Amino acid sequence: MSDHQLRVSKIPRGTVIDHIRAGQALNVLAILGIDGESGETVSVGMNIPSDRMGHKDIVKVEDRELSQDEVDVLSLIAPEATINIIREYEVAEKQYLERPERVVGVLSCPNHNCITNADEPVETKFDVLDDGVRCEYCDTIVREDLAAHIAVE
Ligand SMILES: [Zn+2]
Repeated sequence: MSDHQLRVSKIPRGTVIDHIRAGQALNVLAILGIDGESGETVSVGMNIPSDRMGHKDIVKVEDRELSQDEVDVLSLIAPEATINIIREYEVAEKQYLERPERVVGVLSCPNHNCITNADEPVETKFDVLDDGVRCEYCDTIVREDLAAHIAVE
């Protein structure tokens, strides 16, 4: 473990999301629904020097493991990230992100006329493209600022 990884202290249990593209840490917190009011202990490092990435962000969330939906959305905005599940201060599991073929129920469609924005309880479905995502109902493509469309609880 390098000095850089030790910059933010170890946690007893929870999740460490490492190798987040620099500047994306706050979007990662948004995906996880962390706004400082839910009582979780969260450590955030930004623009930490990284041999592999130049600079990176890192997020540590205590007492929490991530759902698959959260991991899927993370892979869209932080494809290089690694997820370390921590138990007893040690890395118990290490997970690399894979881009999913589709994401269901996690992004909202920006097209106000889309059926997913009507009062009907229709779950959003997006195909994952190389450079964005496409709504399966109305074909609207979202390429930038995916984090602004996250509808995770
Ligand atoms: Zn749509």
